[in-house]
Amino acid sequence: MEPLNLKDVPAPHKIKAQLDEYVIGQEHAKKVMSVAVYNHYKRVATGTQDSIEIEKSNMLMIGPTGCGKTYLVKTLAKLLDVPLAIADATSLTEAGYIGDDIESVVTKLLAAADNDVERAERGIIFIDEIDKIAKKQETRSRDVSGESVQQGMLKLLEGSEVEVPVGANSKNAMVPLTTVNTRNILFICGGAFPDLEDIIRERLTKNSGIGFGASLKDAYKDEPDLLSKVTTEDLRKFGMIPEFLGRLPVVFTLQGLDKESMVKILKEPKNAILKQYQKLLELDEVELVFDDDALEAIAEKAMERDIGARALRSIIEDFMLDIMYEIPKDDNIGRVRITRAYVEGKGGPVIEIRGQQRIGTAGA
Ligand code: ADP
Repeated sequence: MEPLNLKDVPAPHKIKAQLDEYVIGQEHAKKVMSVAVYNHYKRVATGTQDSIEIEKSNMLMIGPTGCGKTYLVKTLAKLLDVPLAIADATSLTEAGYIGDDIESVVTKLLAAADNDVERAERGIIFIDEIDKIAKKQETRSRDVSGESVQQGMLKLLEGSEVEVPVGANSKNAMVPLTTVNTRNILFICGGAFPDLEDIIRERLTKNSGIGFGASLKDAYKDEPDLLSKVTTEDLRKFGMIPEFLGRLPVVFTLQGLDKESMVKILKEPKNAILKQYQKLLELDEVELVFDDDALEAIAEKAMERDIGARALRSIIEDFMLDIMYEIPKDDNIGRVRITRAYVEGKGGPVIEIRGQQRIGTAGA
C-alpha cells in the first residue's frame, strides 16, 4: 500500500477509504479512527505551541474478540508508515514486580522504529486486553495489579520522557539508554470488556425512571447494539479509573461479526485469505475456486467458535492442508473447487484435469 505523508496528513475520508480496502464493516470505528488520527498527526505536524492546546487523540476501542481491533490498528500504522508496538496489558506490571514494566511498551516501539528515536516518537502503541487491568470490584485485599498499572500508565499516555534501553529489552542489561518523549505517541487501548453490557443495561433501565418493575428490566434486552451506548460512567463502574479514562478521550465500540461479514472477510479484503491461497496455487497454474455455500459453511463453523474472525484462518488451514499437499503431485490438475460438503468433511473437493473433468478427493 502507498504510505501516507504525515506532513500532509490526508483528510479523514481518504484515510477511511484506505482502511475500507482491508477492514470489513466497523464503519463507525473506521470513521472515528480516521478523524482521530487526522487530528493527532495534524497536531504533531504543527506542534501547536499556542494558547489552544489540541488534546491528544489517544483511543479506547471496545469490541469482542476477533472483530478487527488489532487488525485496524495494524492497517492504520502500515498506511501511515509509522512504527507500531503491540503489548498485552496483562503482561504489564508496576516497576519492581515480575513481568514487563510499563515502560517496556516504549522499548518495543523503539525497536519497531529500528532504534530511530524521532520515528518512535511519532509511532503508535497498541495495548490490548486493557479490560484485564480493571480495578477489582469486590476485593477485600489491596488490588496491586489492575489499578496500579492504570496509575502507572497515566504519565505515559499524557506525555513524558522515558529512559529506555537501546537494542535490548531489559534495563538491567549493560546497554546504553536513550530518552523517548511520549508526547506525540498515539496510544490506542483495546479490550472486549465482558459484562460491560450488563452495566449499560442497568444504567439505562435505572435512568428510564420507571425501572422498578421486573418487566422493564428486560426493556433493553434485545437492544441490538447496546455496547455503543457506553459512557465514561459505565467504564468507571467496570473498574477503569477516571484519570485513566481522562487520558483516552476517543472512545468507540466495534461490533461482533455476523456470518455475512465473515464471508466478506474471506474474500473481499485486498489480502483476503482466499486470495492468498489462490495466489499460491496460481503459481502451480492451478485455479482454486470456492462455492458460495462453501464460504458460508466456513463462516458458520467460525461463528460456533465465538472468537470472531480469528477462527477463519485455522478452519481453512485445516481443510486446505490436503489440497496443498496433494495438488503439486499431479501436473494434470487444472482446477480445484471447494464445496460445502468438503468443508464439512462429508466429501471431497471437485478436481478438474486440464481439458476434462473428474470428481475426486485430494488426499484420499
Ligand atoms: P481483535 O479484535 O481480537 O483484536 P483481530 O484484529 O486480531 O481481532 O482479528 C483477527 C484476524 O481476523 C485479523 O488478523 C484479520 O485477518 C481478521 N479480521 C477480524 N476482523 C476483521 C474485519 N472487520 N475485516 C477484515 N478482517 C478482519
